[in-house]
Amino acid sequence: MPRIEMKTPLVEMDGDEMTRILWKWIKEILIEPYVDLKTEYYDLGLPERDRTDDKITEDAANATKKYGVAVKCATITPNAQRVEEYHLKKMWKSPNGTIRRILDGTVFRAPIIVKGITPYVPGWKKPIVLARHAYGDIYNSVEARVNAGESAYIVVCGKDGKEVSRQLIKDFPSDGIVQGVHNLDKSIESFAVSCFNYALENKIPLWFGAKDTISKTYDHRFKDIFNEIYERDYKARFEEAGIYFMYTLIDDIVARIMRSEGGVLWACKNYDGDVMSDMVATAYGSLGMMSSVLVSPEGNYEYEAAHGTVTRHYYKYLKGEETSTNSVATIWAWTGALAKRGELDGIPELVDFAKRLERAVIDTIEAGEMTGDLIPLFRRDGITPKKLESREFLHAVASRL
Ligand code: NAP
Ligand code: MG
Repeated sequence: MPRIEMKTPLVEMDGDEMTRILWKWIKEILIEPYVDLKTEYYDLGLPERDRTDDKITEDAANATKKYGVAVKCATITPNAQRVEEYHLKKMWKSPNGTIRRILDGTVFRAPIIVKGITPYVPGWKKPIVLARHAYGDIYNSVEARVNAGESAYIVVCGKDGKEVSRQLIKDFPSDGIVQGVHNLDKSIESFAVSCFNYALENKIPLWFGAKDTISKTYDHRFKDIFNEIYERDYKARFEEAGIYFMYTLIDDIVARIMRSEGGVLWACKNYDGDVMSDMVATAYGSLGMMSSVLVSPEGNYEYEAAHGTVTRHYYKYLKGEETSTNSVATIWAWTGALAKRGELDGIPELVDFAKRLERAVIDTIEAGEMTGDLIPLFRRDGITPKKLESREFLHAVASRL
């Protein structure tokens, strides 16, 4: 077949360790034979981040703003041990954090569903996509211990430093603790817009829960902002797409999620998202089967895998040993980005190719050919799962593609 032509380049962000190896193989075996791949390449591998004083990460994020679609490989977030291992100039920040700061986005995570790998919740037939607000609340909180007899207040001051309001939190009859949290309307608005756009694009209903009955100003603000933006900008489009937006209390949402068959976008405040994303990911089986996309309110997209660089497998690989590393989430980063590029540039063949590649991956696993991490999870009548090495799996997919 002639290779599919692209118009606008993808922003390609390479990464580290085992996922960097998979990255190269995925391109070689599954993409380049079929697509005349156009990318603007940024090497976010740790040595290059160190060499450029991490400027490469900012450049890659800015390129995403320019072109609109990026695909990112997992990268090392350095800690003290990595500083030594890579002889780094300093302990560079998390690349994902830097990219999120520049793009100002919301992270959407969705499980990749295949027959044979059943979620721990038997009723979940379709993906539950989780959107986590990644700003504020306890993650930027101020806390203190308070002694018996002391008092704590919330004091708000104007620009001139003069007190605007003062509320007593508590006259402490005995020793205790106090916490101050905040959020910004602007951040909540961009979170809401990203969620509404994602729901529309994927034609799934949006559920959002908070605790506005108890938190009558703080959580209520979240509820109001979601409702205002929905009524003003999205209601008509949602109705046209046959989907809906529902706000209810967070505990009610949790109960509804457990009873649901999936197929919803669940928007979570920062802490709820932190906790619930681990629950949802675990319930669906494996981090290797979790796709992730950062969507900015301006409509920029950065596709990645939800897992890390799989260090333990990389060290085996370096020793020349065989590895069986799951490449599915990284393939999904590529198919997500290619399909989005095809959609934006009006190249239906590219969108179609991405769907076919995803289908080939699913067919391969459903036929019993998979990487080691999935073997203990797989149960399908008449099929004994076969463990493939990292590269073998890609070839098995290619033969179906
Ligand atoms: P990890 O790379 O996700 O791996 C943790 C363990 O989970 C692996 O050792 C492996 O278990 C299993 N695993 C994860 N992905 C797998 C896959 N695709 N196929 C098969 N097994 C898989 O997390 P980590 O070891 O905590 O972090 C390693 C590095 O990744 C760190 O430097 C961290 O900073 C970075 N990281 C990057 C991102 C990102 O860029 N988005 C996210 C998280 C972590 P077994 O060893 O038991 O096989
Ligand atoms: Mg968590």
